[in-house]
Amino acid sequence: MVAERSGGFVARHVRSIPRSGIRDFFEIVQSMRDVISLGIGEPDFVTPWRIREAAIYALEQGRTGYTSNLGLPRLRRSIASYVRRWFGIDYSPENEILVTVGVSEALDIALRAVINPGDEILFHEPCYVSYAPGITLSHGKPVPVPTSAEDGFALRADAIAARITSLSRVLVLNFPTNPTGAVLGRAELERIAELCVRHDLVVISDEVYSELTFPGHEHVSIASLPGMRERTIFLHGCSKAFAMTGFRLGFACAPAELTEAMMRVHQYAMLCASIIAQEAAIEALDNCHDEMLRMREKYLERRNFVVAAFRRMGLPCIEPKGTFYAFPDISPTGLNSREFAIRLLEEERVAMVPGDAFGPGGSGFVRCSCSTAMDLIEIAMDRIDRFVARVRRPTPAGA
Ligand code: PMP
Repeated sequence: MVAERSGGFVARHVRSIPRSGIRDFFEIVQSMRDVISLGIGEPDFVTPWRIREAAIYALEQGRTGYTSNLGLPRLRRSIASYVRRWFGIDYSPENEILVTVGVSEALDIALRAVINPGDEILFHEPCYVSYAPGITLSHGKPVPVPTSAEDGFALRADAIAARITSLSRVLVLNFPTNPTGAVLGRAELERIAELCVRHDLVVISDEVYSELTFPGHEHVSIASLPGMRERTIFLHGCSKAFAMTGFRLGFACAPAELTEAMMRVHQYAMLCASIIAQEAAIEALDNCHDEMLRMREKYLERRNFVVAAFRRMGLPCIEPKGTFYAFPDISPTGLNSREFAIRLLEEERVAMVPGDAFGPGGSGFVRCSCSTAMDLIEIAMDRIDRFVARVRRPTPAGA
C-alpha cells in the first residue's frame, strides 16, 4: 500500500502560492461575448513590421538551432549599447548580459540566484502579480512595503527602512510600476540606494516599462547611481516597449559573478531563449525607436482620456507617469474591487482587473489597461460611467 502523504504530491511551498487573480478573472472574460477588455497587460499593437521581418528572415536563413546559453553575441552587443544609451550603464557583452525567456524568466532566475532559504525579500506593493509567488518559490520570505494613493504610490526610503531586519537581503523594484504607473524621482531613488548600501542589499530592478515613461518625467535606473551597479541586477525586455510579448524575450544585466550565477540556473532550466526571438530583438533594440515612440504617444493619448473620464465619474485617479495602466479608486461606489469588476463585467461587458490581485494595497482600486483602441476605450468609458451612476444612486427609502 502506498503511504498517504499529507496534502498529496504537491510541494508545500507550491501549494502555498495562489493562482494569479488576473488569470482566473480572464477565464470568465473569455467565456463571454461582446466584452471590451481593459484588462490584459499587453500592447494591442502588432509587433512593428521590421521586427517581424527580422524573425522571418532568421527562419529563411535556417537560423533554427540553440544559441549560446548567454544569448547570441550580436544581440548581447546590441543590448550593451541600448542599455548604455537609454540608462547610462555599461555592461560587458562578454560576461555581464544574459538573454532570457522574457523578463518573467529573468526575474525567476535572479531571485533563485541570490536567495538563501529564509531570506527576507522586500518589494513595493501594489505590484506585479509575480513578485510574492516568485519569492516564495525561491524559498524566500516576501516582505511587502506598502505604497499609497495619497502619496502617488511612490516608494519611500523610510517605509523600506522600517521593514529592514537582519534577514533582509534583496529589494525588488519596478518603476514605472505595474499596476499604478508610478515612477520614482532621482532624489528618492538616491535615498533608497543609500539604504541598500548601508544594509548590504541586492537590488533586482524590473525596468520593463522604462521606455513608456511619459514626457515630463525622467526614468532613472537605480543601477546608474553611485555604488549601485555592483549590487544591482537590471532586468529589461522587449515585451512592452516593442509590443513583442509573444516573442518571450528579456535580459538580465549584472556584474559577472551574479550573471554567472543566473546563467547556471538558466542553463539547466531553459538552455537559451528562442533564436528567432533573439534575431528579432536585435532589430527592435537597434532600429525601432520611432515605432516605440509612436506607440507611447497613443498610450499617452488614451491615458489622458481615461484619467479625465474616471475623475468626471467621481472616481479619484492618480495620473500615471508611465506604463499603459491607470489605477482608479472605485471605493466611492461602495463596492469592493472584486464586486466592482465582476458586476461591471456582467452588467456592462467591460473587463478590468480587481486591484487586490496586485496585493492587499490594491483593495478599493481596479486596473484599467489602456492597451485597447481609442474607439473601444470611448465606448467602455461610457459603459463604466453608466454603471458607476447606477451603483452610486442612493436606494429609495423603504426599498
Ligand atoms: N514585469 C512586469 C512589471 C510586468 O508587468 C510583466 C508583464 N506583465 C513582466 C515583468 C513580464 O514580462 P515578460 O513578457 O517580459 O515576461
